[in-house]
Amino acid sequence: MNIDEQLEVLISYLETNKISYRENYSLKYETYFKMGGKVKCFIFPQSCDKFKQAVIFLQNNHIKYKVIGFTSNIILFDEIEYSVILSPKNLTLLEIHDKVVEVEAGYSLQDFVRVVSILNNSEGYEGLEGIPASIGGAIVMNAGAYGCDISDNLISVECIDKNNEIIILEKKDCHFRLRNSIFRSSGNYVILKAKFRLNNGNRNLIAKNIEKFHIARHSYLDYVYPNLGSMMVGKDDVYKLIFSKKLFYSIIFWILKYSFRNPVSKFILRKRPNRIVFNKLLLFYLKWEKNISLKYKLSPKGLNTLINDGNVSTQEIVNYIFLISSDLLENKLDIENELVIEPSYKINPEFETTYNTIINRLNR
Ligand SMILES: Cc1cc2nc3c(=O)[nH]c(=O)nc-3n(C[C@H](O)[C@H](O)[C@H](O)COP(=O)(O)OP(=O)(O)OC[C@H]3O[C@@H](n4cnc5c(N)ncnc54)[C@H](O)[C@@H]3O)c2cc1C
Repeated sequence: MNIDEQLEVLISYLETNKISYRENYSLKYETYFKMGGKVKCFIFPQSCDKFKQAVIFLQNNHIKYKVIGFTSNIILFDEIEYSVILSPKNLTLLEIHDKVVEVEAGYSLQDFVRVVSILNNSEGYEGLEGIPASIGGAIVMNAGAYGCDISDNLISVECIDKNNEIIILEKKDCHFRLRNSIFRSSGNYVILKAKFRLNNGNRNLIAKNIEKFHIARHSYLDYVYPNLGSMMVGKDDVYKLIFSKKLFYSIIFWILKYSFRNPVSKFILRKRPNRIVFNKLLLFYLKWEKNISLKYKLSPKGLNTLINDGNVSTQEIVNYIFLISSDLLENKLDIENELVIEPSYKINPEFETTYNTIINRLNR
């Protein structure tokens, strides 16, 4: 079957089985980064059973599809018309029994943190506050911050594998690592729901931690432009890694770093913390050391956050990601944000160079 025949069969199945979908659906304003072309068939089943049914049908019929969560870590491209995208956004049941929470993949992580931490006094989830993820997407990425990962209190994950088996993976089988899991590295599972442990904690202390982390996030995350959090994974300061190659820039970097740590600078920048000075040093470095005039507008919060200012082209974004990750950092850090180029139905011919850049760079 060619792709049009597959789509015809799929749509007839969705109609017969009353599974929610839309045809020729525009993703642009649906995604977190506010980018993305149309999708021929966007499926958003109303319940976990209908979601399973849709996955099994797609897999049985060898129809390629992409599952998305809240899209806060993925870039979909305006120039690609996608074929099939599946969203668990209606999978939002949450139940609590005997200190165990069972929650479906489409539930909001931010709401989850409040339910477990504030309403049920469970400590160990505070660092997840402010991560704009679905439960499914957060498990795939092993999302975390401030010394807390979603896998810390996870018991098990229920998912569908490529053989259409519904399986339950215990935490130890999920191979969680920094921003990684078996779900991400293999791409072989669709997450349906998960179980988490509730701990005992002091609500006032938990609330204080949540507030502290919420404020801290504002100091390093962009909250003006559509963005995707951190572009690369790592504990190291990305500027430090780049400038460490040249003594001159390294010295200036450390001088700036310490001068911004003093109480006066902190007070002046308290309402608008930013890394504009470091960005300027980067532009200077690129110009004089690499002969590159960067067109891409950097986030005031730092070079490790991609932003969409409404004017940037996808080519510039892709060039920027590979300039920083491969050319400057020599792939020392993994790229956290995912560039979604499949399953495509049609690609704008002008996008082909960018498309090939992505394929070549990711396969290196
Ligand atoms: C402002 C901002 C702050 C952020 N801060 C942090 C942070 O502090 N820490 C951190 O770790 N991340 C952070 N992120 C990144 C992002 O929120 C996380 O990576 C998050 O886990 C992505 O979840 P999602 O639901 O949006 O998944 P998506 O971005 O939609 O998808 C991510 C991957 O998971 C897959 N996927 C999604 N749902 C399922 C499912 N049910 N079954 C199988 N596969 C699935 C997708 O195919 C994709 O490969 C931040 C992002 C933003 C925009």
